[in-house]
Amino acid sequence: MLRSWSNGTLVQAVESFAARFAEIVIISPRHLAGEGMALDLTGSAGVHRVTLIQAAAELARAAMAEQGLAPLSSLGREAVAARIAQKAQEHAELSYFHPVAALPGFARALARTLVELRLARVTPDMLETEDLAASASPPAADLARLLERYQAELQERSLVDLPGLLALATATATSGRHPWIGLPLARLDADLESRAHREFFRSLAARAPEVLEAELGEVGPGSSPAATDSLEHLRQFLFSPEPKPYREHDGRFEFFSAPGEGLEAVEIARRIIRLALEGLRFDQMAILLRNPDRYQPTIEDALRRARIPAWFSQGTARPHPSGRAFLALLLCAGERLSASRFAEYLSLGQVPETPGAPKWVAPEDEILGQLEGEQSEPAAEADRPTPRRWERLLVDAAVIGGKDRWERRLNGLEAEFELQEKPLDQIQNLKQFSLPLIGRLDALPNAATWSVWLEHLTELARLALRDPDPVLAVLAELAPMGDVGPVGLEEVAEVLSERLRFLRREPPAQRWGRVFVGSIEEARGREFGVVFLPGLAEGLFPQRALEDPLLLDDFRKAVSKHLPLRSRRVDQERMRLHLAVAAARERLIASYPRMEVAEARPRVPSFYALELPRAVEGSLPELKAFEDRAREAAPARLNWPAPKETADAIDDAEYDLVAIAGARDRAGGVHYLVEANPHVARSLRTRWARWNHKWRPADGLVTDDSAALEALRVQRLGARAWSPSALEHFAMCPYKFALHGIYKLKPRDESAPLEQMDPRTRGALFHEIQFELFRGLQRTGLLPVNNERLPEALRRADEVLDRVAAKYQEKLAPAIPRVWGSEIEDLRTDLRGWLQHVARNDDDWEPVQFERVFGDDTPLALAEGVNLRGRIDLIEKNVLREAFRVTDHKTGKRPETIPRWVGGGRSLQPLLYGLAAEQLLGSPVEAGRLLYATQRGGYTPVEIKLDERARQFLQKLLGDIDASIAGGFLPPAPAKDACEICDYRIVCGPYEERRLGRKDRHDPRLDPLTEIRGMA
Ligand code: SF4
Repeated sequence: MLRSWSNGTLVQAVESFAARFAEIVIISPRHLAGEGMALDLTGSAGVHRVTLIQAAAELARAAMAEQGLAPLSSLGREAVAARIAQKAQEHAELSYFHPVAALPGFARALARTLVELRLARVTPDMLETEDLAASASPPAADLARLLERYQAELQERSLVDLPGLLALATATATSGRHPWIGLPLARLDADLESRAHREFFRSLAARAPEVLEAELGEVGPGSSPAATDSLEHLRQFLFSPEPKPYREHDGRFEFFSAPGEGLEAVEIARRIIRLALEGLRFDQMAILLRNPDRYQPTIEDALRRARIPAWFSQGTARPHPSGRAFLALLLCAGERLSASRFAEYLSLGQVPETPGAPKWVAPEDEILGQLEGEQSEPAAEADRPTPRRWERLLVDAAVIGGKDRWERRLNGLEAEFELQEKPLDQIQNLKQFSLPLIGRLDALPNAATWSVWLEHLTELARLALRDPDPVLAVLAELAPMGDVGPVGLEEVAEVLSERLRFLRREPPAQRWGRVFVGSIEEARGREFGVVFLPGLAEGLFPQRALEDPLLLDDFRKAVSKHLPLRSRRVDQERMRLHLAVAAARERLIASYPRMEVAEARPRVPSFYALELPRAVEGSLPELKAFEDRAREAAPARLNWPAPKETADAIDDAEYDLVAIAGARDRAGGVHYLVEANPHVARSLRTRWARWNHKWRPADGLVTDDSAALEALRVQRLGARAWSPSALEHFAMCPYKFALHGIYKLKPRDESAPLEQMDPRTRGALFHEIQFELFRGLQRTGLLPVNNERLPEALRRADEVLDRVAAKYQEKLAPAIPRVWGSEIEDLRTDLRGWLQHVARNDDDWEPVQFERVFGDDTPLALAEGVNLRGRIDLIEKNVLREAFRVTDHKTGKRPETIPRWVGGGRSLQPLLYGLAAEQLLGSPVEAGRLLYATQRGGYTPVEIKLDERARQFLQKLLGDIDASIAGGFLPPAPAKDACEICDYRIVCGPYEERRLGRKDRHDPRLDPLTEIRGMA
């Protein structure tokens, strides 16, 4: 037995021992422990370097084959635990665990505890002794039942778990035959963590001619030679009650802090580059993590930025989009095919290019993987983007309920889009992809054996995931569970949930030439030139050791001395710090984050952080002085995340920040930026131009380029058809007019709150009802509506409303019927109010034409200088005299200022529709009206007489707009507060009104706009 606090010493000892034999078995803690060692051994073909579990699987293989046993993975264990907990509940066998047995997480905790009991060779009868009963240990009887059931389940299904595997291997090692039995044996710091582990190793060792055990630990009091450097000294005195000071600072132990975990990772990357420049190989550096789940993403990001090749260990489970997407689908199935779960699946970007071809994927479990054979190659990452807007469409569709409802809602949404003239391609794609998948989720069994589930889930993963392999690997672990069941969807999701959330990511095949990044445990039996140890902050490292809630320490002590206690967890945490230090040959660089950036909470160094300098310096450093020293060692700031010197920058972004910081006040100091990157140059120049006094092309549609002016010719008012509403945009903002009418940019569809009907759907319904009602009333001679005809008109309005609403309801399949119903009733009130208004005020005007469409094929050319197209809601004829008028119905709010002619250019519809009607009818039109025909609009009419003055105003206004188009001057010159309600703000940004304040207001090209805005 050899003990040392240096992994290098342990590796060397095993290496020298192994070199004496032609064939030897080396038990190492991980498969890469002692890497490089076997390569240096002569005749290394005879070196069997395996982990203890791999050795056990190898020795148990024959016995398992003989008895027809299949190995049970850790995931399978959880599935069995979930099964037996459910059965025990059904048979009312649980009293102590009864309230928690159905909670998520219980099965996982139970699996862990049962395995611990079995590793300690505790049997059910040992849990039911009289002593235990007398000590009133409440979980004893429950655990005895559960352990009994667990063992029975394994036996019935011919499954073998880790304790069973170790027992079989121990039997073979004790009295069986295997080529490895009788070979020299070395143990390189492989942890013999349980009684079962120890028994197996001891039985193997008992038949070996020579055995070397090398493990991390105290050499013996006073037996260590004096340290020759501070790192060696640190190893010797870590956690020592009386550490001695080391005589000099030789730089082998460093400590720094950074503002947050992200910058801590960047500082590590910076130091790695420096070390590499000094000649240290990347594979001689390691970043050891206490919390890989938390730290690995930031480390990965920093190393990627610095282009440092890295090898992220296999032992690290990371959140993986495939697993999370698959879990979201299972939850979708469990929550009655909920749209939000389906949207969650879509949001993870795992929608496949094409359904995957069947392919075998090896399980990830150490035992199963060992017994099954080679792992598959990691799947290549496809780069197909997630379909745009599908998630949003699903929210709009608001599917609640089963498969039929999905079909109806998506068809309804498609119909609604059609009605609102929105593009249909996205919704059709979504339907095509999602409905078959929903069908598959709907077809999942209520309860089935695991083999049936695995068939369904495997197919689902292949259909639904871009990279299904990590999920298939997890499912493969459950293959031996095939006969177990029946289990329900909830149980399946519960068993898979943790594993799917944190899937393992395959490291690159080649370890050499890459910085090692892994958990501290993975440094057992390995040595690196330089070790980085981040995260030494309070709450991160050390972590609190908790008792097992299912099997508290007092109970453990009473059951068996082989059951580990909480104190062992504390020792393990201390051992982790020893491990990290032991793995460093030349230098240890420890660090901690000063802030929890996400929560803007300060952090302090942990007592392990202080223990390291204490072991070197002989006394605990004063906290403030230590914090200052750590901060000065890495002067990064959150608000300027860059080093001081450009030479220390890890990437272009840092380089630029350093350069800009140094040259901000020097003319031309950062000129290189515009030379280095044409896009930066263009962006900076455009930005300058937009804030500059003069109007320039960067502002909007502002041009004197002849080709551009030529292109604008076809946009002139007499050259193509314009709608009145498009022309109204000019006065609000000429650029808005250009974006809408010339560039044809449409605002992005935003989902309306479900509590409300989409305003466009409401408007379409209102117009259709009016049209049908008028047509019916006209056919039966009930127009104009007057007080006498009002009751019949109201009755018919109700009928038409009910009919049209029913048609729309069938077509749109509204998401929430209650909301739909209340909107329809609201509409009914509006309609009735409008009819009453008409009967009271308009009984001398008879509607003669409704919804008159014009100019779609051939634009209507007005003498005032515009080609027009549009739809006139209503043309009425006076019953007393030869006169016509037109009306445009509005369902929104009435304007604050009532226009006299053109309302500052914002109210052109009455005049333009009036002039259009004159041409269509071949008769003069007296007036054009807007009628705000709802309660919201107060049933307010706004009437504009088509007199000579109005015509002159209109002609002038149209001429001004036309001149602006012809002159290429449609700048962002918004009217007051226009940007606030403008759909194009996302194009212009938030500062247009401020920018306008800096622009030349006396530019003569703005005169037409000023003139239009001044027209009453
Ligand atoms: S955001 Fe303002 S400047 Fe831009 S188009 Fe709209 S109104 Fe004009």
